[in-house]
Formats: sequence, C-alpha cells, structure tokens
Amino acid sequence: MLLPRFDYHEPGSVANVCELLSQFKGDGKVLAGGTDLLVNLKKKVFTTANVISVGKIADLKGVDKKNGQVRIGARENVADLAENALVKKTFAALASGAGWLGSPLVRNLATIAGNVVSARPAADLPPSLIAYGAEAVLQKTGGERTVPVESLFTGPGATILAQDELLTAFLLPAPLPNSGAGYQKLGVREALEISLVNVAAFIALDGPDGPIKAARVVLGSVAPTPIRAPSAENALIGEKPSDALFEKAANAASGDSRPIDDFRGSAAYRRAMVGVLTKRALDAALKDARARS
Ligand SMILES: Cc1cc2nc3c(=O)[nH]c(=O)nc-3n(C[C@H](O)[C@H](O)[C@H](O)COP(=O)(O)OP(=O)(O)OC[C@H]3O[C@@H](n4cnc5c(N)ncnc54)[C@H](O)[C@@H]3O)c2cc1C
Repeated sequence: MLLPRFDYHEPGSVANVCELLSQFKGDGKVLAGGTDLLVNLKKKVFTTANVISVGKIADLKGVDKKNGQVRIGARENVADLAENALVKKTFAALASGAGWLGSPLVRNLATIAGNVVSARPAADLPPSLIAYGAEAVLQKTGGERTVPVESLFTGPGATILAQDELLTAFLLPAPLPNSGAGYQKLGVREALEISLVNVAAFIALDGPDGPIKAARVVLGSVAPTPIRAPSAENALIGEKPSDALFEKAANAASGDSRPIDDFRGSAAYRRAMVGVLTKRALDAALKDARARS
C-alpha cells in the first residue's frame, strides 16, 4: 500500500503549526508518531493535501511539575511515558496503559496526543487521563482553551478539536492525599492487542483508613467513546473499601457499559469483563493509594 500524494510541512514552532492549520482550512493533518495517521492515509480512510509534522517542536515534549500540576507535552512518546519516573510514581495507571499500548516499535513512535486525538474507543490512554481528571490544552492562532479530556470525545474517531486547533499539552492535577488509581486491559491476546475492554479506576480515601471520598471509574471499548460509570462511582463514595464493596461497584459498572457485538467479542462477554476488570482496577487503585499514603 502506497501513501497518497500530499505536501509535507515541518514547522519549527506551535505558532507556525497553528498558522498552517488555519491557512489549510481543514485540508491539513497534524503528524505526530504517524502510527494512526499514516496507516489511515495508506488505507485511504481519508485524504489530505497537507501533512504538518510536529516532530521538530521541542515545546511539545517533556513532563514537568509546576504549581502542583503535572504537564505532559503532546508529543511525549508512549515508551517514554511508560518509563517516566514521575509518571510511574504519581500516575501509575497512565504509565500502565502506556506500557500496554501496541508493541515496542509502536510505543517508540506513538505519542500521547495522537492516542487521544485518534479517539479510538479502545485506546489505552484516555481512560486513565479521565480517571485522573486531566485537561487538554488546545491552541490556535490568537487563542487557547483548556478542556477536560473527558469532554474531548464525540464519537469513534471524532473529537471537539476545531480544524485549526493543535493539542499542545495535558495538565494533570496533583493527586489528592490517600488516592490511587489502577488500569486494566483485556485483549484477545496478551500483547500487541487493541482492548476488548479496558477500565481505569481512581479512588481517594478520607484518611489512610477512611471511607472513599472521591471515585472515578472509566470504561473503554464498551461505548462509542470512553465513558464514566456513574452507578459504580455512586456505589463507592462514602463507603469504606472492601472486597464486597468493590464487587458491588464492579457489577454496577457492568450495568453502566454499552458494549456492542463485533468480531473481537460479544456484548455479553464484554459486559461481564467490565465487572472483572473494574474489580481488579479498584484493587490496584487501593493498593496504589495505600502505597503512596
Ligand atoms: C500495530 C499497531 C498497534 C497498535 N496498538 C494500539 C494499542 O494497543 N492501544 C492503543 O491505544 N492504540 C494502538 N494503536 C494505535 C496508535 O498507535 C495510537 O493511537 C498512537 O498513540 C497514535 O499516536 P501517534 O503519535 O502515532 O498519532 P498520529 O498517527 O501521528 O496521529 C493520530 C491522529 O491524531 C492527530 N494528532 C496527533 N497529534 C496531534 C496534536 N498534537 N494535536 C492535534 N491533533 C493531533 C493526527 O492528525 C491524527 O489525526 C496501534 C497502532 C498500530 C499501527
């Protein structure tokens, strides 16, 4: 399969990328790692007259802590994210998702923004970003807005990004005291596999042995976009963590999911696996919270 013809641009700054996006009026695509974009162009899923690489823009890379927030640059690659000491310590569920994404070859190219903007329902990074309450910074010529990652997705492959907007960074709030998160992924095989179901769970305890005061349970690959599981979250809040409570929340999460039958698995199997993975993600979240308190 050959790539179709397009003009290739390699601007040196975020401002220049935004100018080009504005100039091309929708007929330009941002190229990060290319692991989705180039495959889709080869398969003729869509065409574009212009490909704009962000590969030379240093500002879009890096993981920094500032004013209690952690900023992850849009083109931070997935392999680096999986191994970053700050991310592993503070956002273990995100590091875990990054470690499960694709293969070493894919992880070395793929970026965090590419994974999010591709908006695949089964993508590995959005559930944890949502569970941690992350925001995305969207920039265009003459303006910038910061939106919750949770509100970015509008359907498979679709986001709220305007055609002239570049995602420049993710902002993750410092985790609450006594909080932790876990990420679980199930595929048809163990490696190099898109999720059949994935779940990220975040809990914050009111004191080391206290009840749960905040909870976010996020399900992937069981709806057109990643979704929160509100019944599971409501079941958790105000209660002391226990096996029985996590089972109850896991059953509630199964009820919140909206899976479909497809060639990877049936809706009924996916719904059952949401329960299994939610229980495991909550166990991991509690372990993480206790380890960090
Ligand atoms: C063999 C293989 C296995 C895979 N396995 C997995 C897997 O297990 N889990 C998983 O989640 N994904 C998987 N993927 C999908 C893909 O690798 C990821 O989604 C990857 O993170 C995409 O990032 P990228 O940098 O390569 O994006 P690109 O392909 O460069 O871009 C993807 C999309 O995002 C847009 N974009 C990129 N950066 C920005 C930005 N800063 N601002 C605005 N728009 C932007 C592009 O224009 C394009 O539309 C796999 C892909 C392959 C080829």
